[in-house]
Amino acid sequence: MAYLAATKIDLAANGAVSVQWNDGHTGIYPFRYLRAQCSCAYCKHEWTGKRLVLEDQIDPNVYPMAVTPVGRYGVALTWNDGHKAGIYTFDNLRAMCQCFDCSGKEPVLSGGPLFTEAPDVSAADLQAFLDRGKEKAAGGGGCGSGSCGCKG
Ligand SMILES: [Zn+2]
Ligand SMILES: [Zn+2]
Repeated sequence: MAYLAATKIDLAANGAVSVQWNDGHTGIYPFRYLRAQCSCAYCKHEWTGKRLVLEDQIDPNVYPMAVTPVGRYGVALTWNDGHKAGIYTFDNLRAMCQCFDCSGKEPVLSGGPLFTEAPDVSAADLQAFLDRGKEKAAGGGGCGSGSCGCKG
């Protein structure tokens, strides 16, 4: 099983976060959708898994302001609505991909502004973190087909 990691995260992909994966897949995550998928205790009930904050309740103009590496397995996003508690593991992030291949429909882009400022996390730190995923990918196979578990 290849080690799944992001090798590039673009917060400015026109209403969506774009994630380049180390198996070659490019994931698309509309801002509002991604914000609604937050798995922190405030957004999702710890025991039941029930969503406490629904997409409808989130500002349509929400957008991520910064992405921060978390361990070796995921990232945390800081949003313009002040929310920053949520960690997105790579496994979860990949499973929630909204690209046509993964979701079977075109991603619905929310109206957030184009992100133009530099993230407040050190870009070098983030790049070093993402590069580690590339090194892992170079050693392993990857499925090379649609059977990589995209659909969860
Ligand atoms: Zn949350
Ligand atoms: Zn996808």
